[in-house]
Amino acid sequence: MTAKLIDGRAAAARLRGRVAEAAADFRGRTGRAPGLAVVLVGEHPPSAAYVRSKIKATLEAGMESFEHRLPAEISGEDLLALVDRLNADDRVDGILVQLPLPGHVDDQAILTRVDPAKDVDGFHPINAGLLATGLDGLVPCTPLGCLMLLQDELGDLRGLDAVVVGRSNIVGKPMAQLLLRASCTVTIAHSRTRNLPDVVRRSDIVVAAVGRPEMVRGDWLKPGATVIDVGQERVEQPDGTRKLLGDVAFDEALDVAGAITPVPGGVGPMTIACLLRNTAVAAHRREGLPKPQGL
Ligand code: NAP
Repeated sequence: MTAKLIDGRAAAARLRGRVAEAAADFRGRTGRAPGLAVVLVGEHPPSAAYVRSKIKATLEAGMESFEHRLPAEISGEDLLALVDRLNADDRVDGILVQLPLPGHVDDQAILTRVDPAKDVDGFHPINAGLLATGLDGLVPCTPLGCLMLLQDELGDLRGLDAVVVGRSNIVGKPMAQLLLRASCTVTIAHSRTRNLPDVVRRSDIVVAAVGRPEMVRGDWLKPGATVIDVGQERVEQPDGTRKLLGDVAFDEALDVAGAITPVPGGVGPMTIACLLRNTAVAAHRREGLPKPQGL
């Protein structure tokens, strides 16, 4: 079997198109564009690159971008004060504080200070609780993008066996909640799981969010399974170059899976598209407008 490639770039482009339509409609109704504030602390190069692409995508979708670059030495109190100002700013519909924050800053204190209605990363405990109880909140972008790819590929997910490998608050746990909400039978695996290959072999859907390059081998997969590879780690190659690798041994998986996301070009583009989607949804909710169609 040669697995079908799930094209995350194409799916993300379609979603971004729908977001741009929703943003234009919002502008027509309110006289302003949805606004996303991005906070970057320090000089961490990968974070700076993520922030650049998020800002570019925000502007391309016809939304307003508010950029706050702060020195690594900023105090926790000053950062909280900035979050308070953004919470109170009516032009700002979404607030994204790029992680990781410097060691002296308490991440949780900052993330829980963000107004849940503007928490477009979906990391606030209120939004995590809304997701867990099946209510409407803002859902973390990466798992939301994974769910959209799965629904595009498989349609109705009801009754399918799904395993999520990884239980982080950012990816694994919300992913499992979304799959449960879609009526999958969900297993959450982690570093203490026994017989992980057997657990994976039982699953129609495999979402790997571990951060261990190529850990999930081809012979762990059920033939025909749909595989979503969230992992992205830069790994030095024998020739000194660095290659982006996922958590799944891609070449092996191609022979067994029914469909699989590549790395890069799978989950990554959907994460940014879902950030824009969440910003548009938050903007509509804050203005009392109905949720835009297709988002
Ligand atoms: P994380 O917070 O480090 O969590 C990793 C999870 O993997 C933990 O729950 C850990 O289990 C589990 N794990 C570690 N070793 C394992 C093993 N040998 N067997 C089974 N499970 C194991 O990582 P994360 O933030 O969720 O990110 C995971 C990966 O996704 C990373 O490569 C990251 O770069 C990538 N990522 C990609 C995107 C994107 O947009 N494409 C977005 C976010 C993250 P314990 O809980 O037991 O320690």
